[in-house]
Amino acid sequence: METTAISKQGVRNYIDGKLIDHQGNYQELISPLDGQLISQVPLSGNEALEEAVKAAEKAFPAWAALTLKERVQVFYEYRDLLAKHRQELTDLVHLENGKTLEEAAAEVEKSIELTEFACSLPQLVTGEIMEVSKGVECRTERRPLGIVASITPFNFPNMVPNWTIPNAIALGNCMIMKPSEKVPVSVERLAQLLSEAGLPDGVFNVVNGDKEIVEAICKHPKIQAVSFVGSTKIAQVVYRKATESLKRCVALGGAKNHLLVLPDAQVEMTASNIAASMAGCAGQRCMAASAMVGVGAVDHIIAKLCEEVQQIVPGKNLGAVISLEAKQRIEGYITQAESAGAKVLVDGRSPKVPGKENGYYVGPTVIDFVTPDMAIAKEEVFGPVIAIMRAQSLEEAIEIENGSNYGNAAAVFTQNGGWAKEVMERASAGMVGVNIGVPVPREPFSFGGWNESKFGVGDITGKSSVEFWTQLKKTTTKWNPESKINWMS
Ligand code: NAD
Repeated sequence: METTAISKQGVRNYIDGKLIDHQGNYQELISPLDGQLISQVPLSGNEALEEAVKAAEKAFPAWAALTLKERVQVFYEYRDLLAKHRQELTDLVHLENGKTLEEAAAEVEKSIELTEFACSLPQLVTGEIMEVSKGVECRTERRPLGIVASITPFNFPNMVPNWTIPNAIALGNCMIMKPSEKVPVSVERLAQLLSEAGLPDGVFNVVNGDKEIVEAICKHPKIQAVSFVGSTKIAQVVYRKATESLKRCVALGGAKNHLLVLPDAQVEMTASNIAASMAGCAGQRCMAASAMVGVGAVDHIIAKLCEEVQQIVPGKNLGAVISLEAKQRIEGYITQAESAGAKVLVDGRSPKVPGKENGYYVGPTVIDFVTPDMAIAKEEVFGPVIAIMRAQSLEEAIEIENGSNYGNAAAVFTQNGGWAKEVMERASAGMVGVNIGVPVPREPFSFGGWNESKFGVGDITGKSSVEFWTQLKKTTTKWNPESKINWMS
């Protein structure tokens, strides 16, 4: 199989084990690093989806008939191929997404860990059996759903697709992936690696495109389940459309993550954690710290945070944001907050990045004295910006956190166990941290927020995803030689 990294002619769909040149409209693919055209992405329509569904339908019976232990063998191979090609995969993420090479490498490592979890599924997904009355047994087993779809965002071109690929497929489903049209190249390469790992043709298919193909996926009668990761606005659209077509759906949305900082917090550790959380991946992580609530006398921690943040340099240890539009939106939030009376302590607007003048960079920005009614306090900025609000008590800080419509992550920085426990119990977020800026639950724990950060039941990774990607079969057997019949037998 051909393994060229980026085709200038255009990214290809991947259907029934083949890379397919798209006949139809394309959209330009620009690298955020320097604004250069790198390829073009197909805007596929119904025809491509029909082909992908046909291929998946054909592949499903044989794939589902294998045992789980047999199916995960492919993922042992895939894991090794991810490791073998880690540098190439890292370079692709860096080029198409704009994050730093170090961040891109960490993303690929995370994909390896996600795949290792899938390899452990035979140890976890064992079913149950019980003799419920004499000679009568009930047993349960997890069976695949059939054809499932996964729709992914731009911010993790390699890792977020791997949130769903290994688990859903190892559990016996056939998948249609719709990557973000802003970062389709990594998934094209993953498709090749899955094939090389021995995945039968048609089990994994990729259709590229935008709104039109997403709507077609949500409506398609042969697709049983849809997972979505992206902004809250589109998560709501996808959740409504998919469930209206009677599909199972989990749709992860945007975030506004609050870090509550108490005056007793350890200064260096807190400042470096907040700086890394707000600026890592240029703030384009759904787990990024985007609001800090300082409780009481925390000026010394804010001063240290500003010192840390000034070590973060666009184009060196800070990557680009995804597009010119994103840069303008992020800088607009800063300007708007400043005009509303907030104080910009570190200003990242319009940074100079020598040699990358056409890239989309925003420097790390710290804004103090933000009030909860400002747009920058309420809305997802998705850039390397932290909005600091001040509270007089922990109670007030928790109220500010609870007031957010989102609920992905929240964290507290303190050395006081009682205060930490209070936040663990009362934060209105699916993922909570104590003295950690990015509280991502690692495998086997599952990833998923609350409130408007997630629609649907269950999480998208870890043990919780097993329920989403399977259905439970309950079988009752009676081998009762006495053939006695009563209401329990
Ligand atoms: P997005 O919502 O714009 O796009 C996500 C996907 O939806 C893409 O594949 C895109 O093609 C498709 N899409 C876009 N507009 C559509 C429309 N009108 N109808 C149907 N489909 C449409 O998100 P993005 O900008 O790619 O990613 C950033 C967002 O993703 C942020 O809000 C971030 O917080 C969120 N995110 C959330 C999580 C999480 O776990 N909660 C993880 C990663 C990213």
